Amino acid sequence: MSNSTDELFKNVISHAKEYGFVFQSSEIYDGLSAVYDYGQNGVELKNNIKTYWWKSMVQMHDNIVGIDSAIFMHPTIWKASGHVDGFSDPMIDNKVSKKRYRADQLLEDKIAAYDTEGKTDKAELLQTEMDTALKNEDLPRLRELIIAHEIADPNSKDKPDWTEVRQFNLMFSTQVGAIAGESETIYLRPETAQGIFVNYLNVQKSGRMKIPFGIAQIGKAFRNEVVARQFIIRMREFEQMEMQYFVRPGTQKDWFNKWKETRLKWHLALGTPEEKYRYHEHVKLAHYADAAFDIEFDFPFGFKEVEGIHSRTDFDLSQHEQFSRKKMQYFDPEVDPETGKPFGNYIPYVIETSIGLDRMFLLTMINAFEEEDLSTEERQDSRTVLRLHPCLAPVKAAIFPLTKKDGLPEKATEIMDKLKVNFNLQYEEKDAIGKRYRRQDAIGTPFCITVDHQSLEDNTVTIRHRDTMAQERVNADDLEKIIGDLVSWKNLLG
Ligand code: ATP
Repeated sequence: MSNSTDELFKNVISHAKEYGFVFQSSEIYDGLSAVYDYGQNGVELKNNIKTYWWKSMVQMHDNIVGIDSAIFMHPTIWKASGHVDGFSDPMIDNKVSKKRYRADQLLEDKIAAYDTEGKTDKAELLQTEMDTALKNEDLPRLRELIIAHEIADPNSKDKPDWTEVRQFNLMFSTQVGAIAGESETIYLRPETAQGIFVNYLNVQKSGRMKIPFGIAQIGKAFRNEVVARQFIIRMREFEQMEMQYFVRPGTQKDWFNKWKETRLKWHLALGTPEEKYRYHEHVKLAHYADAAFDIEFDFPFGFKEVEGIHSRTDFDLSQHEQFSRKKMQYFDPEVDPETGKPFGNYIPYVIETSIGLDRMFLLTMINAFEEEDLSTEERQDSRTVLRLHPCLAPVKAAIFPLTKKDGLPEKATEIMDKLKVNFNLQYEEKDAIGKRYRRQDAIGTPFCITVDHQSLEDNTVTIRHRDTMAQERVNADDLEKIIGDLVSWKNLLG
């Protein structure tokens, strides 16, 4: 990370705290690692991102509906999905520092170090050896490589004195039932997708859905990430926005390509420069997938996955059919032009789009954050402004009486009361107008409306625009339309 990008990232993190977007969880108890809370502005921004996703996926598609499934599910679901046996990372402990690391990440860091030193042959060889060991699940070999390459503890630099490599399951577990012996281990879901799979026939039948159709869900997921780093990029409790699209077998490739494009367009509609995004194709596919692409964003610390588009075949539904002994088939009455007969019964194939809400939140903050130099020849000046898309801005407009007297607060409150039914507004009467503008710029409020003495005479107010800082005088009765037009979802989805 270069100095300036490092600086940008640090500034965004401290800005997020100072202005009530993100707080460390349990801060007064020195925090809980890799868990975060969203503050008064953070929750608004987060809700607006959710609304944008929900509207674009559910409201704008006749054949996609939403659900909200429980976090706790029958434990066999996680056996069927492969998470009990396979959702794990290879871990290794340093015996001196007692710190735990992901064995593959230690090796990846070493490969990156060889590359930086220009030792590309060594880097390539180690990469191949690591890939082979991971593919064969050869844990002793991973340890051998760590020792052979003299990898020390990255934090304490303690000697390469390492334990065996062990698989560490990322699922959190807990017990249901109050009486010992009667209880059973259940898991906090590590992804929201399984709640969709096990409900797919409930939704299909009760909603009379015809293939192709989709089911969308927004909700919490939990992973006991061992190496939690980079703020809200990798958390132990996070939120996903997932959509599973059920298609006829054989058509999955076309749908996969369609969703890959559709999802990138969703990101770009927010005005993010195209070069900030890239696709990353998975070469090594998960056991359930026949194609997978990530959408990556150029964070200050490099390109990182924000969203995954996966062609999951019929793996999950077939597994649930096998484990639950319930039919997961769909009857497709449409006539196959090749045979002249209905397509009939089959287990649908699934295309998944899965985006991390918290990563989307962070990239939105990073994109929007600007320290703007406003200096003139006479004086130095600057402001911190969040250039959030108006649809995402936590507060749509702030209403200021110019002074605290002469009936101006009453007039401002009257205007506010009319508008607050439709928009999230803030009322501020403390400090000079300039200071109030700066506070609103810092949380990304698109409009500041000032009520002055003239307002009492002719019902006009000044409206100041966040991005241009231009001011104009408008009739207070027109505010509903002016604000409404700028924050309309039509601007993103129309
Ligand atoms: P990574 O490789 O970064 O661990 P992943 O491939 O395991 O991610 P998926 O299982 O595909 O991630 O989950 C879908 C999305 O959920 C990711 O694209 C990411 O945005 C988000 N996500 C996954 N793990 C976390 C986490 N620990 N904290 C925050 N967001 C996460």
